[in-house]
Amino acid sequence: MNRILIVEDEPALQETLSYNLQREGYQVSVEGDGSRALELAREMQPDLVILDVMLPGMDGFEITRLLRAEMRVPIIMLTARDDEIDRVLGLEIGADDYMTKPFSMRELLARVKAQLRRIRMEREEAAKPAEAKLKFGDLSIYPERREARLGEKSIPLKPKEFDLLLYLAQNPRRVLSRDHLLEHVWGWNFSGGSRTVDVHIRWLREKIEADPSRPQRIITVRGAGYRFEG
Ligand code: CA
Repeated sequence: MNRILIVEDEPALQETLSYNLQREGYQVSVEGDGSRALELAREMQPDLVILDVMLPGMDGFEITRLLRAEMRVPIIMLTARDDEIDRVLGLEIGADDYMTKPFSMRELLARVKAQLRRIRMEREEAAKPAEAKLKFGDLSIYPERREARLGEKSIPLKPKEFDLLLYLAQNPRRVLSRDHLLEHVWGWNFSGGSRTVDVHIRWLREKIEADPSRPQRIITVRGAGYRFEG
């Protein structure tokens, strides 16, 4: 459940805000004093703060400045009048949105929802581990999901073809002998001969080369083996 801190000193507005937000399923805390609100925010770590500008104790600008330095919480400011200076200042010091009093509760709820969605996506994005990827022009290789793509198109590769491509791609611009490839891709106990390598190279070329008869990515080094140019 999302926790919302309402910092507002007008009792009527406190009540309307908390009633409507609770009805939407949010867990709500209300504080009317600016400096106490700051302590409360540190303690409860809210998911969103609705913050009035004119407050006893400490004003909304100062609270925003201090909160911003400590946490990445969305702040929706409530300004008393349509005062452009307040709005600009509020956004400059780090408020995410503002509403001018009197405001429509429906609009406020929509903005609360939008801010919560935005912060959730930000967090999900940050939590996602960067996907490892090897990239050579339009050829991309994703080791973790064992997939290779040409542009946006997935290349259908048999398991050993993928292993071979991955090994080549991890050792670019290096001449790799057939025996070396056999040992590292197929394993030392593989009983087939080095022709296996040639056959797989040919299959790979058919899948990743623009013209398999004139390969640009997997180069044959006469008498030595193969070199991946990517
Ligand atoms: Ca006020």
